[in-house]
Amino acid sequence: MTQQEMKCPTCGGDKFRHKGGTTYRCVYCGGTVIGPEPQRSAVASERDRVSQQDTSRRSYKDKTTALILCLFLGGIGVHKFYLGQTALGVLYLLFFWTQIPIIISLIEFIVMAVSSNEEFDRKYNS
Ligand SMILES: [Zn+2]
Repeated sequence: MTQQEMKCPTCGGDKFRHKGGTTYRCVYCGGTVIGPEPQRSAVASERDRVSQQDTSRRSYKDKTTALILCLFLGGIGVHKFYLGQTALGVLYLLFFWTQIPIIISLIEFIVMAVSSNEEFDRKYNS
């Protein structure tokens, strides 16, 4: 069965607007019709698009969050973990007792604070 062969059970209309999945809406009476699966490739690309959005949302680094983490938890490298620089974060943790990471994180805080959002995005969100 193709979309063209579908008939609206309410008014007998044969034109439908795709609503998503196998659901179509009759353009004449607005009734909902369960139709055939849309093209497989269309479904796949839709799924790709959604998962891509999920990934970018999950990995998006917020400058304000990074600044707060850097200021309050910078000495143990939390901002490094947040920014995806896990190896550096581990180093901060290992050398926490020397208090050197605290000094470095304060410098990083200032550098991050004075740099523009565009610069931050280029560095961590590209
Ligand atoms: Zn109809």
